[in-house]
Amino acid sequence: MDLPHVSTGDMLRASIQSGREIGLRAAAVMESGALVGDEIIIGIVGERLSLPDAAAGVVFDGFPRTIHQAHALDTLLAAHGDEIGAVLHLDLDDEGIVERLSGRRVCSKCGAIYHIRYHAPAAYGVCDLCGGALLQRDDDQPAIIRKRLAVYQAETAPLIAYYHERPTYRLVSGEGEADEVFSRIVKAVGAAG
Ligand code: AMP
Repeated sequence: MDLPHVSTGDMLRASIQSGREIGLRAAAVMESGALVGDEIIIGIVGERLSLPDAAAGVVFDGFPRTIHQAHALDTLLAAHGDEIGAVLHLDLDDEGIVERLSGRRVCSKCGAIYHIRYHAPAAYGVCDLCGGALLQRDDDQPAIIRKRLAVYQAETAPLIAYYHERPTYRLVSGEGEADEVFSRIVKAVGAAG
């Protein structure tokens, strides 16, 4: 869609890697599967939205994750005369989520994402694109994934009620192959936009 991908998780991991203060404060929280504080997240999103490439819009991934963040996003956008074009609710049962996340591998060099079953690299543990080593995120261990699911229920699921009545809300099934889910998303965004 030619829009920058704004993943708060990616931004936090980049801060950890570069040793920035925000990263140091967030690292232990992320490893445990809990959520990083709203004010830190709202701060990094505000900074990201002020960069020139965000002027035409962005695709958020993993944000907002709390009602407080959703309010802050509405306020931030209103201040620029902008609004949310589409809210995508990707739905999958917990077992499916555990299977996908625990099989995820990430290239330590270029960040490309693989799955041990659904999108395996040609050579075991090696990135097809850059030859970097593939690693498993610490928080993709099944025990931590289950903690993240509990945190989702407690803190993020209330966003469904928050967005549900808006005309831009779209419920999209996350079941099936990646390309099927992708076409559902494209259709849902078209219908909302
Ligand atoms: P993700 O890459 O989206 O799976 O996020 C990984 C971890 O980063 C989460 O489990 C949280 O600890 C933290 N994180 C990412 N985005 C947010 C957010 N919007 N609010 C709070 N914590 C976040």
